[in-house]
Amino acid sequence: MALQSTTADESDRRFKLLGLVSDVDFALHWPLRYEDWTRLTPLKNVYDGQILQCDLKIISVQPPSRGKQTCRVVGADASGVSLGLTFFKVYPSQLAQWQPGRHMRVQGEVKRGVLGLDMPHPHVRLIKGFGAPLEKHLTPVYPSTAGLSQWALARAITQSLDRLDWPEPASASMLQQALGLDHPLPNMLAALRFVHRPPAGVDVAHLAEKSDPHCFRVICDELLAQQLGLQRARMRRAARAAPTMGREKAGLARALSCLPFQLTRAQQRVLAEITEDLSRAIPMHRLLQGDVGSGKTIIALLAALQAVDDGYQVALLAPTEVLADQHAAKCLPLLEKLGISSAKLTGSLKESEKRRLRESIARAELDLVFGTHALLEEKVRFSNLGLAIVDEQHRFGVKQRLSLRHKRDDAMEPHLLMMSATPIPRSLAMSYLADLDVSVIDELPPGRSPIRTRLLQASRRMDLMRWVRQEVEASHQVYWVCPLIEESEALDLRHAQESFAQLTEALPGIEVGLVHGRLSSQDKQTVMDAFQAGQVKVLVATTVIEVGVDVPQASLMVIEHAERFGLAQLHQLRGRVGRGRAQSQCVLLYGEALGASAKARLKAIYQHQDGFEIAREDLRIRGPGEFLGLRQSGLSLLRYADLERDGQYLNPLRALAGELLERKGCEDPAITALIACWQGGVEDRLKA
Ligand code: ADP
Ligand code: MG
Repeated sequence: MALQSTTADESDRRFKLLGLVSDVDFALHWPLRYEDWTRLTPLKNVYDGQILQCDLKIISVQPPSRGKQTCRVVGADASGVSLGLTFFKVYPSQLAQWQPGRHMRVQGEVKRGVLGLDMPHPHVRLIKGFGAPLEKHLTPVYPSTAGLSQWALARAITQSLDRLDWPEPASASMLQQALGLDHPLPNMLAALRFVHRPPAGVDVAHLAEKSDPHCFRVICDELLAQQLGLQRARMRRAARAAPTMGREKAGLARALSCLPFQLTRAQQRVLAEITEDLSRAIPMHRLLQGDVGSGKTIIALLAALQAVDDGYQVALLAPTEVLADQHAAKCLPLLEKLGISSAKLTGSLKESEKRRLRESIARAELDLVFGTHALLEEKVRFSNLGLAIVDEQHRFGVKQRLSLRHKRDDAMEPHLLMMSATPIPRSLAMSYLADLDVSVIDELPPGRSPIRTRLLQASRRMDLMRWVRQEVEASHQVYWVCPLIEESEALDLRHAQESFAQLTEALPGIEVGLVHGRLSSQDKQTVMDAFQAGQVKVLVATTVIEVGVDVPQASLMVIEHAERFGLAQLHQLRGRVGRGRAQSQCVLLYGEALGASAKARLKAIYQHQDGFEIAREDLRIRGPGEFLGLRQSGLSLLRYADLERDGQYLNPLRALAGELLERKGCEDPAITALIACWQGGVEDRLKA
């Protein structure tokens, strides 16, 4: 008894390793592939390498002996064709049963050799005689883990399916109508039973491609649940209150007149979209996308000014201190001109300074607060936060971004503007991003010259020094980026220091600077300021400069070990140059022995300049999960639907989801249950 309960615990532990806890988890544990043991294959015409099942009458058995480890059995099928079986391990109990004249059913791969047919380590089972009954279903093979048999998995899944009651907020006819199908689809339980136990004769290829109607039903269910989740989040948001602002346009006009440039058409368009949102009494939840250098910061600032104009506070969040510093520094002239008070709250401040800042924030003495993750701390409370802006939003977790909403003490929720330089294709945005509206800046400010990209073998590193010198002599500046080696920050640092030493030596008379993650934020700032001011000509950096740094005189970007960077990172880094009038270049140094994915990345960055093209390539190379960083963010991926294959059903199912929510309301039990089946706890985390 005690023994049994430990084994049950043990298999529960193994199920858990596979993420299988609830009946729903088991029901949605999709087979990797199927084996077809519903048929026997006559041995007369088999080909070499064929995987088959046949029944044999045992002719001879040669047990393992001193000289020979293997056991050999020879048998013949009903028409007398013989097949040799080779076993690498047999138990005495098996040998005792394998007597000439008895029958066995064997499964495995046939080898055709000079001595006839042979099957190495087959699966065998004794049967009563020729004509024993066959399996009536295909046999699923599930993803599993060590110590967990297929049999145990299949049994647990069958039991779960027997207990399960799948919520169906949309009837079969509604689904059929929404999708414009000739025939109704099966209900979910029937579909799932079919997937786990397809009857004999079903086309395995259709199952593999998920084009079988039963698979299609499950895919539709997943997409419907997802659309229900997204739209419900939107409806719930619409029921919450936010401060309205930006009706008074005078402040905005004054700010625009202070700018040294005109907004591009794209910038004007997105600004209008944001302004419209801010004037509404429900919380904005908007993603501002725009390629590197497209001018997102100024748009964020103009949005902020509207909030401040109406007496609200604004928080502007950046993922790194360097970037927060830069935002603060870049915005300062305009803020001073307009008489707006601002401050910067980052982790490196002294505790006493942080406390003073927190007090000013809570007393609403500060209009605009720049900051890093330190701004998200529980202790930071705003008396009147109207707008929270998150730059490089993908570098923050979902929870972190959402925590900004609860920084007010009343029931109001601030507007939320997120920014990203990684464009997300529309179908992905529609299906993965929690309730979000998207604005896109699809135009660069005028006067940018295209960047020339070159790939250079690392062995030619010293040739590069000549170019670096030429650039500096033409009074330009140079970035030299060293890769982040994730396993070892120390190694990473050493690499940067070596490159720094090498450049200093190779370029006498030229000021070279070094900035890396281990420097104090003050030291970082000193080096960055010197580079910004043009005293430091060559800046050696680890990826701390990855985001947002803006130095127009920089015209050469060198990236060492470019193969170690992700595509989005490479694009961001390259975007640091090409911001002035000079012809800019990006040199990608790469090491030997490139993997296929590294090659694909380098090729893509070499061929494309446009961030949207690059994002598409990136998505293709990495797949949606990695691309969106969903694994870190805690969002779940679509499990069975594939937007490439099933994207066409997204729109009709979205419409159906809207219809259902309208008819039954946000809190309908069947809708809630269906969302929970597919998203588990995710919805709660996103509760948007
Ligand atoms: P990103 O979208 O990458 O955050 P930034 O906001 O840093 O881009 O803008 C890049 C640079 O372009 C900044 O120096 C900014 O002042 C400048 N800029 C922004 N908008 C315009 C514009 N309409 N015309 C000219 N320069 C602009
Ligand atoms: Mg930026």
